[in-house]
Amino acid sequence: MIPFTGNPLSRMSEKRTDAAWIEARWRDPSSRVLLLRRLEPLVADQRLDAAPQLALISSEAAQTLAAPSTTRVFLGLDGEIALFALDVSDLQDTGIKALPKGSRFVEARTAAQMVSLKDAAILAQAKAMIDWHRRHGFCPNCGTRTDLMDAGYRRLCGTCHAEHFPRVDPVVIMLASDGDACLVGRGKQFPPGMFSALAGFIEPGETIEEAVRRELMEEASLEVGDVSFYATQPWPFPSSLMIGCFAKAANREVKADETELAEVRWLERRVARELIQGRPLGDIRLPPPIAIAHHLIKTWAFGDF
Ligand SMILES: [Zn+2]
Repeated sequence: MIPFTGNPLSRMSEKRTDAAWIEARWRDPSSRVLLLRRLEPLVADQRLDAAPQLALISSEAAQTLAAPSTTRVFLGLDGEIALFALDVSDLQDTGIKALPKGSRFVEARTAAQMVSLKDAAILAQAKAMIDWHRRHGFCPNCGTRTDLMDAGYRRLCGTCHAEHFPRVDPVVIMLASDGDACLVGRGKQFPPGMFSALAGFIEPGETIEEAVRRELMEEASLEVGDVSFYATQPWPFPSSLMIGCFAKAANREVKADETELAEVRWLERRVARELIQGRPLGDIRLPPPIAIAHHLIKTWAFGDF
């Protein structure tokens, strides 16, 4: 399964406007809270008897740590248990000392690779939501500070009454192939030797397949024919939805766009198979399983393309 997918929570969106119901869930002793400090989730990873997992605490314990104005988002129900995310970025050292033993705040991408796939999917939702609130405190229409509404799924401007909703930014990420070779690129900011599938934001007025064709032309001067859909992945850094696609190359004539990429190259299928299984070949590396690019390349390398 692709990390950040398969969120197990019932989001209960019909209950978000029911403030009494949300407050009752918050006060319920069985409810649990995921704390994020400067977008880093609290993770329990220092117990010998358990695998690393999100450290969920009671709302009673959470209230002693955070001011009432702190951003709070209802994530959904895990069975009967309500889950909330709470921004505790202002937490001071004394508060940190009061956290459960064996827990610590961990950078979100690192945390996602430590915990179960279920926890990673919940983390994707929590991180994206808290991140959105932190970056959208003011109305883009008139500049007034906005208020959190609907258990965290809307912000309302009290001055011009504009409503603002959590954003998701679609990104195409595509593996072009021609026979037994696929096209990978090395971004200028990548570590040495790291190659991945090419990617780019979808622009207004553009379809997914048009974005795939445009990005491959812009970044690699490559013409492509058929574009097919693979899978999607929420990518909460900060708010992307990765849309994985395959594309049939019209030829193997490529040239890297030097403003974005250091290099593009064709990778033979047998090489891709070795690399994607973690066997080093020369100085090339491919993305780890947290990235949908890993799964795109793996599916192509072992598939019937
Ligand atoms: Zn406004």
